[in-house]
Amino acid sequence: LVAFLLYLFTLMGPLGQLTDGWTGLSGGLAAVRRIREVEELPREPTGRTHSRRGSSPLGVTFRDVVFGYGGRLEGRSPAHRGVTFEVPAGGLTALVGPSGAGKSTVFALLERFYEHDAGTVAVGGRDIRHWPLAELRSAIAYVEQDAPVLAGTLRENLLLAAPDATEEEVRRAVSRTRLDGLVERLPGGLDAQVGHRGVTLSGGERQRIAIARALLRRPRLLLLDEVTSQLDAVNEEALREVVVELAAETTVLAIAHRLSTVVRADRIVVMEDGRVRAVGRHADLLRSDALYAGLAAAQLVAGRSPARAAPEAPEG
Ligand code: ADP
Ligand code: MG
Repeated sequence: LVAFLLYLFTLMGPLGQLTDGWTGLSGGLAAVRRIREVEELPREPTGRTHSRRGSSPLGVTFRDVVFGYGGRLEGRSPAHRGVTFEVPAGGLTALVGPSGAGKSTVFALLERFYEHDAGTVAVGGRDIRHWPLAELRSAIAYVEQDAPVLAGTLRENLLLAAPDATEEEVRRAVSRTRLDGLVERLPGGLDAQVGHRGVTLSGGERQRIAIARALLRRPRLLLLDEVTSQLDAVNEEALREVVVELAAETTVLAIAHRLSTVVRADRIVVMEDGRVRAVGRHADLLRSDALYAGLAAAQLVAGRSPARAAPEAPEG
């Protein structure tokens, strides 16, 4: 069914471009939403939906990208007003900037949840409009800020996108994301029921599950959207280590609000108001970019903002 929907969508892609109108485009977007819903359901372990082995990291190019969400907010300035940056394959790149700058929109376009209006988005040197959607999505792992945990066992949640992962790989992902404590605590361990009808997990636990799930996929491009936002200090530090480790294996693009992550990035892309205003390393940007220096100073002075400082409280 998923394959069929994806096939449908690949047909609708060019169709949407041909008609170049509202009907084609909205049809395409609706299809994307439906596919996402279907993709989020547990599926039969075929082991083929996501090829996980022997794949090299992918670079990312944005060139003069213009994109507006349209709809009710039309008339406001578009989310991207000519976004240009280049990320080589491998390493850790941090995306920073004030809220509303367009950072999450970069990820939405890379995943092709939306089509950009103008300019070029390329992954691995290939225009994303020329990637088969299923192939593109299987190369990318995207960990959203509010990570979903589905009804089922913890193991099922981890294996969702990597059904052929070995027990050893699962154990390793669990320990890397510091989930071993949770596994020990849960009756049944990895086979404990979580999600809707199961054990209630904290926001931080759900985020770590999402990261472990992404790890198991062995993505060629890993997108992390403020994933440490709900973690307490110990788990945050642990995950920062994992992110740095992962950057040695794949391309990591991380939207970050903590200076501690940004300082260790190979490059930092500073966004503001739908544009990229500077790219560089921490020390250079501190000197050359006033906005970056201000952001850095605010985080150095204020440390954790109160909302982020809360320990991992169970949702409720
Ligand atoms: P950031 O992640 O840097 O905070 P976003 O990329 O989420 O910024 O948002 C960029 C702009 O696009 C903001 O003005 C935001 O309000 C708008 N926007 C984001 N998502 C949507 C959406 N789904 N529909 C309409 N507007 C959106
Ligand atoms: Mg965002």
